[in-house]
Amino acid sequence: MIHKSKLAAPGLAVTLICGAILAACSQVSGTPKSVPDAAATIPTRAAIPGLSEKYAKLRKRQVAQVDYQLSANLDRNSDSFSGTVTADTTFQHTLQQPLTIDFAGGTVESVAVDGRDIPVEYNDHFITIAAQHLPNLQHAITVHFQHPYSKNGSGLHRFEDPKDGKVYMYTDFEPYDANRLFPHFDQPNLKAHYTLDVIAPKDWIVISAERESRVEKKGELRHWFFPQSQKFSSYIFSLHAGPYHIWEDEADGIPLRLMARQSLAQYVKPDDWFTFTKQSFAFFQPYFEIDYPFKKYDQILVPDFNAGAMENVGSVTFNDSYVSRGEKTQAQRMRLANVIAHEMAHQWFGDLVTMNWWDDLWLNESFATYMANLSLAENSEFTNTWENFYLGTKQWAYNADQRPTTHAIQLPVKNTDEAFANFDGITYGKGGSILKQLPYYLGKEAFRKGVSNYLKALSYRNSTLDDFMGHLGVAAGMDLDQWQQQWLYKAGLNTIEASFQCQKDQITGLTLKQTAPKEYPTLRTQRTQLGFYRMESESMKQVATLPVLYSGAITKVKEAVGLPCPEILYPNEGDWAFAKVNLDPVSVENMSKYINDIEPPFIRLMLWQSLFDSTYDAKLPLDKYISFLLSNGAAEQDINAVRLNARNLGFAYGYLNQIPIENVRRDELQLAIENFVWTQLQQSPAGSDRQKTWFRAFTDVAHSTRALSHARQMLLGELTVGGLKLDPDMRWDLITLQNRYLYSDYEQAIERELQADNSDRAKLNAIAAEAVRPLPESKQKWLDNLSMHRDKFKLSELREAAYSMFPSEQIGLFNTNSERIFATLSQINAEDSPELISTYASIFPLMCNQKDAQKIKDTLAEKQQLKPMLVKALKNHLYSSGRCIAMGEVLAQNSIQIRK
Ligand SMILES: [Zn+2]
Repeated sequence: MIHKSKLAAPGLAVTLICGAILAACSQVSGTPKSVPDAAATIPTRAAIPGLSEKYAKLRKRQVAQVDYQLSANLDRNSDSFSGTVTADTTFQHTLQQPLTIDFAGGTVESVAVDGRDIPVEYNDHFITIAAQHLPNLQHAITVHFQHPYSKNGSGLHRFEDPKDGKVYMYTDFEPYDANRLFPHFDQPNLKAHYTLDVIAPKDWIVISAERESRVEKKGELRHWFFPQSQKFSSYIFSLHAGPYHIWEDEADGIPLRLMARQSLAQYVKPDDWFTFTKQSFAFFQPYFEIDYPFKKYDQILVPDFNAGAMENVGSVTFNDSYVSRGEKTQAQRMRLANVIAHEMAHQWFGDLVTMNWWDDLWLNESFATYMANLSLAENSEFTNTWENFYLGTKQWAYNADQRPTTHAIQLPVKNTDEAFANFDGITYGKGGSILKQLPYYLGKEAFRKGVSNYLKALSYRNSTLDDFMGHLGVAAGMDLDQWQQQWLYKAGLNTIEASFQCQKDQITGLTLKQTAPKEYPTLRTQRTQLGFYRMESESMKQVATLPVLYSGAITKVKEAVGLPCPEILYPNEGDWAFAKVNLDPVSVENMSKYINDIEPPFIRLMLWQSLFDSTYDAKLPLDKYISFLLSNGAAEQDINAVRLNARNLGFAYGYLNQIPIENVRRDELQLAIENFVWTQLQQSPAGSDRQKTWFRAFTDVAHSTRALSHARQMLLGELTVGGLKLDPDMRWDLITLQNRYLYSDYEQAIERELQADNSDRAKLNAIAAEAVRPLPESKQKWLDNLSMHRDKFKLSELREAAYSMFPSEQIGLFNTNSERIFATLSQINAEDSPELISTYASIFPLMCNQKDAQKIKDTLAEKQQLKPMLVKALKNHLYSSGRCIAMGEVLAQNSIQIRK
């Protein structure tokens, strides 16, 4: 899966990046202990949602093999669907204990063993069959069932397109929602073959892992038959259906299809999709030395999707927000290429070879994250993959790893709720980053060979971390035990710093220092390089690089002696290491003098980020950071640095809303930001990516009457800024902005736009624009909907409202509602929907004072029963508050000094 990270947002992390996917993770390190044979100790399964590792282990000891035949009836109008599944099950031994079959939230009409009905024992979570009904080693278990279509994007989701009334369906299962489609053993290490047939309306197509073998006419219906699939885990099984528009192509003999809703089809760029798809296949097949293991490759764009995309075998789903209704920027095209490659990498890593249990989820996600970037770097039109990786994945990981909610990459996962909670910046970002290091450490070819051998040895089976490390170690001829201990079993981010002395313009000594936070004191070994920069002919050039191995607290670099004395020394050139950089004072001084004279864009990107880090770490006062950026940022034209600066200015603007500071000074700084962004927007070349980047920043920071008036004029077509063309989604950004400040005809702006744009995206945007209004009645309405009328809404609608409800300047409105918001937490916590929990957690705004933050502390202290996900989200809020409070203190001290 790829989750839907919007951006790596330090201050607003919970709202912006981790909204969909955070939870607490125990910071236990070390190898998970094996559970002794629990046949005697787990007599019955508790009647609660989810699946525990203990129980999954027990069931694995019961079930030797299973294959499913599934028949489903789908239609346009009902609230629920019906089906029959037969599980041909072979047992390891004669059962002494009951067998349970996972099935959440459905209705069971009958259960039969070998054709004979037995009493139905069903508790809304699973079906129980007493051992006496299963006397032999092989049985065919048949269940007739019904299940409501899902409205929250998990299980079998039903969507009705407001534009044309057409109905579409798709499934989304990871980690534990396949059992919302049909009763079965929903754990990754019970891989099965699936034989599917589906009855559906005649104008629909039905999509699953295999292509259909035949379709029979049945009046207004069609009966679709699919051949038996290959063997894989159920969380990557799929069933999508609806009148999807189809494009076809092929890649090296692999049949390709791309599908989207009909109302969205005009915006899809199939050439980009197929090009990126073919490039990834062309990279992965030789890299893994295994041909694509499944028979066809479908990619389906689906609405209301909770994540970014999902790697179902042969029928990958993508959030249809990947379709832009205007011209994509290169960064957006690259994001698309990246997610295509990510899901494709999973076909081998995850689908062909699958983790035994969710504790090795990182193996799937880190690997797909790294491989997607490698594939882009090696075989695509994109030239700045690793800069992009630094800007996105790496910042997400660094940020996550400094929080109190960080955890070791490899950690025990007790149940499927915890598994859900681990789709986070550590699993994807840090895991992906450390895999990026491994080829430098082992050698590129040894790494590739190890991966290939691992996949070949374990095809169609399950694996563990030890299998993976074992194959890498053998291929490289290295013992990876220490590496594994340092990187996989210990949490925390190291800081690295270089110091050097020079005489006669030559280095006489260079020392590297590594430190660790006191909570996570591990010092690690990592290979990276030093970058040396000097001013030559009026520009700062890279004059040397030097590979180094950080190890322990102090590393002396003898090889540096005699090199020309640098004006800037960057201790993680090329971003190979996973470490935070502290620049030495000389480099800091020169960076601030020469930032725009530094030639290579990647180093400027890292230096701009380190400036922001200093502010976020409460070392550099926020106002100094802002004035530095406003004085020097205009000359920056590298698109990645522009993206980074625009994003960080947006954060700075948000902090200013709450940091205690004299109002005159606050206004002055915020207006300066707004003016700067407006100027950049006007001055960027028409239609350029820079212009689009500054446009987005403008919709974040515009607040003055003048800017709001510009925004409205742009919307009405009375003002064109630098030749910028507005696409429908950009128009909605302006409408949301107008509503955020109740500017002019903000209500009519929504109505007018809905007349012209009646797509589902428009409807979601209209919800956001309404919920963002700083009016008690708007908050009341959406809090009512979130707390009392959830059943009337799709999760995608609630999420839209929750995300936009309390921008940082509306902390006052949050506080007047806070009692209710905190009280609703326990109600939300009781729901069996991690997606809903993460949605709700996203309504908490930035909090920049102790009093507001105290409520979160109290809640964490009182409510011991909060689910891991909610605990993690709240702890993250507390951390963000802490950062903001610290930034405020530094700013206050600084202003006092100035006044003196
Ligand atoms: Zn993934």
